[in-house]
Amino acid sequence: MGYEAVIGLEIHVQLSCTTKMFCDCPNRPGDDPNTNICPICLWLPGAVPRFSLETLEKATLACLALNCDVQPRSAFDQKVYYYPDLPKGFQLSQHHMPLARGGWIDIMDEDGKPKNLRLHHVHMEEDVAKLVHETEGRTPISLVDFNRAGTPLIEIVTEPDMRSPHDAMAFLKVLRTQLRYTGCAECSMDQGTMRCDANISLRPLGSDQLNTKVEVKNMNSIQHVGNAIAYEIKRQAESLKNNEPIMLHTRLWDPEKGITTAMRAKFEGPCVPDPAVTQILVTDEWLRKMASKLPEMPHRKVSRFVRQYGLAHDEAAQMSSERELSEYFEAVVKFGASPRTVANWIATQLLPAVKEHGHEFATSPVTARRFSGLITMLEKDEINSNSARSVLNKLFETAKSPEEIVDQFGFRQVSDTGALRGIVDQVISENMSAVENYKNGNKKSIGFLVGQAMKLSQGKANPKRLQEILRESLA
Ligand SMILES: [Zn+2]
Repeated sequence: MGYEAVIGLEIHVQLSCTTKMFCDCPNRPGDDPNTNICPICLWLPGAVPRFSLETLEKATLACLALNCDVQPRSAFDQKVYYYPDLPKGFQLSQHHMPLARGGWIDIMDEDGKPKNLRLHHVHMEEDVAKLVHETEGRTPISLVDFNRAGTPLIEIVTEPDMRSPHDAMAFLKVLRTQLRYTGCAECSMDQGTMRCDANISLRPLGSDQLNTKVEVKNMNSIQHVGNAIAYEIKRQAESLKNNEPIMLHTRLWDPEKGITTAMRAKFEGPCVPDPAVTQILVTDEWLRKMASKLPEMPHRKVSRFVRQYGLAHDEAAQMSSERELSEYFEAVVKFGASPRTVANWIATQLLPAVKEHGHEFATSPVTARRFSGLITMLEKDEINSNSARSVLNKLFETAKSPEEIVDQFGFRQVSDTGALRGIVDQVISENMSAVENYKNGNKKSIGFLVGQAMKLSQGKANPKRLQEILRESLA
């Protein structure tokens, strides 16, 4: 019998707020252990949480970006359990009245067709402290770092609409892009600012039943999520074939071995309404104000880039993949360079160069003005693409403008017919056999001759003019 997979995701996203969720401590979990703490986030008895407006604003922006219905009234519950990273015995979360319900994301399925994936709800939640396991001499010890305790999270819970590892991975990529666009979260799985659990079950193809699901945790990259789901589908199909029942339980992904293993069940207590944090009331007017803060979202930007700049869909998608990149692209174009050349050079030359020179895009010294200057010289045939690549590398090493670099290093392209003819004559006299081949009908020899001439010009000749003159001379 054929099976199909039914997959839902639960994603925790850390909001990039200045402070924690219920106190004024800095929201910087990576600082030296236990430096960003106070009685409230140490959860000392008697401390009273004060809900931060910034958390509500960022969480709301995220919900709007995901097309959710933000609820007029939401509230916090105490999710009761005890663990050393949660000494107060409960986590403030929204169980009964989440911030937002519904919502959706569009992805492309394996066949390149659009597919709509629904969200169930989005709720806010405080993060717990972090356990650090070390050894003191030969004794294993566990330490608790409270920097993370009380930092603001949203949890995004999807409907079980995904059918394959591809769906889940595409969902996470689109989710990440959209949330990053709002500026409310970094969404880095390897930094732990986005964490994903997957619920997976199988059912006979064509049925619409929901069978017992298995939860998989501990995936540190989008690729891991795909691999873990693929493994889990295979494992469950095997069990069903052997008539072994699927039990509701949690498994951990082991990326080294490429398998999931069953983990000990965690006690989950009840969720009871929290008496200390007041209910959150959201007015339509406030929601409209939040909606006006949303930037142009990526799918709209892609269509606009196609329409306004004549980019191909793939180019537009690439230039819109990060908000910062899309703004850079538009800034370069505003300086006058032509959009398709700019898109092509950003994708194939600039981005790799930024990486190679050890920069992040945000810290790259190649500003829009400098990059535009470079592309403009290329388009005016003042330099050829070889030289443009060299100039680009120099932009990382000096603060000079591309024009100054071109003059200083003699990159200016030689298009002067007289000078090029001299070079062509020399190449012809030194490569008689290639010339013979060309004249005997091997048209490919022209490429070799152009190459020789480029070499002779130390890379500065205008290759198009060079080829024209070569053809004339050999005609
Ligand atoms: Zn605090």
